[in-house]
Amino acid sequence: MAALSPAQQDALRRLPSVDAVLADPRLMDIADRYDHAYVVSQAREAQNGARQRILDAPDDPACPAASVVADAVLCVLNGSRLRICCVINATGTVTHTNLGRALLAEPAVEAMNMAARHYVNLEYDVEAGARGHRDAVIEDVLRRLTGAEAATVVNNNAAAVLLTLRVLAEGREVVVSRGELVEIGGSFRLPDVMEAAGVRLREVGTTNRTHATDYEDAIGPETALLLKVHPSNYRVEGFTGEVALPELVAIGRAGGVPVVEDLGSGALLDLRRWGLPPEPQVSESVAAGADIVTFSGDKLLGGPQAGLIVGKSDAVERIRRHPMMRALRVDKYAYAALAATLDIFETDARPELRLPMLEMMTRDVAELERYADACVERWSVLLAPQVNVARAESTAQVGSGAQPATRLPSVAVTLDADGTGPAPLAAMLRRLDPPVIARVENDMVWLDTRTILVRDREALDAAMASLADELRDPR
Ligand SMILES: *Cc1c(COP(=O)(O)O)cnc(C)c1O
Repeated sequence: MAALSPAQQDALRRLPSVDAVLADPRLMDIADRYDHAYVVSQAREAQNGARQRILDAPDDPACPAASVVADAVLCVLNGSRLRICCVINATGTVTHTNLGRALLAEPAVEAMNMAARHYVNLEYDVEAGARGHRDAVIEDVLRRLTGAEAATVVNNNAAAVLLTLRVLAEGREVVVSRGELVEIGGSFRLPDVMEAAGVRLREVGTTNRTHATDYEDAIGPETALLLKVHPSNYRVEGFTGEVALPELVAIGRAGGVPVVEDLGSGALLDLRRWGLPPEPQVSESVAAGADIVTFSGDKLLGGPQAGLIVGKSDAVERIRRHPMMRALRVDKYAYAALAATLDIFETDARPELRLPMLEMMTRDVAELERYADACVERWSVLLAPQVNVARAESTAQVGSGAQPATRLPSVAVTLDADGTGPAPLAAMLRRLDPPVIARVENDMVWLDTRTILVRDREALDAAMASLADELRDPR
């Protein structure tokens, strides 16, 4: 380490000790509301920060002695621990796994709040005055929405697949097409999930084509079930062929083995109603005769993180009774939010107005253009001359492996910083309060308006104003 300059040595000498900071009336004023060890650690952090600023500037050390106490007060008030904080999603990816996936409909939020504040009938049959089952609040509505005989719910769809395979095929063979041995988002790789479930993978067919005879030839005494997997975030095009579920069910019946389908997103309604491309519907898989169908609670459903398992009563009952269920089941919040979300699917005439994810996917482009124009008008004044603001056509996407081929027409506000380039500008946006998460493309920063919540628009304007301050007066 380089020797300290006399100015640095002087600045360091003048830094107050942690004890002096703790004894300052400004800190003592607030300290008794907080844990003592926490206050000491925050005072030390403020002092360390000041020391670092001195060390970072050998020629002209700042003289932060005076600000250490004020910094310590802020450190105590704001904390330094990482918390979940709200961010503005300007990426254009509606269901963004890194940003928490689905936003819940208001009734689902209220149901979660209620469950947090009150005792609830989670496992209690109020009418009978006796113990009930947690699935009671979701099973009937799922039966009506999907046509299935029975339903249960676990932590997520990965857990649904894992548990289903474990219960129905432990130690035996599961037949899957090579075209469906997919990886979804890094940590869900079907062959690995099968291994973790304790089942043996029997691959059939090829990557691009699998025929009925491939399945038929694979069925033997070791076969526990036939598994069909929605390839989700990837698509095979060109010379392709797969065995559709009704035919696979017929093959399973003939061979005396059950058929399970992992739908991934799984739609409860026909998305064509909103001009969106069709996504496999859970009810179609049930009608085709699948013994079990699994799908996600927080992809197209727009509910809490959950994995839904619907199908034949005896299979669902075996899954429900398995010891692993206890480890994979969900809490009262998930049941509360899920029941409220399913209720919207069943009863609401305009679910797209209630479910934020569907609302974002179906938002009118003309409305996005008006909003983008208003942003350009305000922000170009704010951010000039460093940043050039313009409107551009964009494409948003559904995200989370749902509908990979679907490009949602969208409108972006682009920020072009001549001086700094897009990456530093995007980093500045992420440091705003709330952090704004944008896309970098074509040497510019893109804010896609489709995923910017209407309720966040004011906060985004305020964040842009503080970006303007920072551009004028870099810290
Ligand atoms: C997304 C997906 C999963 C995993 O679902 P999670 O709810 O994220 O656990 C499993 N299978 C398929 C086909 C998927 O698309």
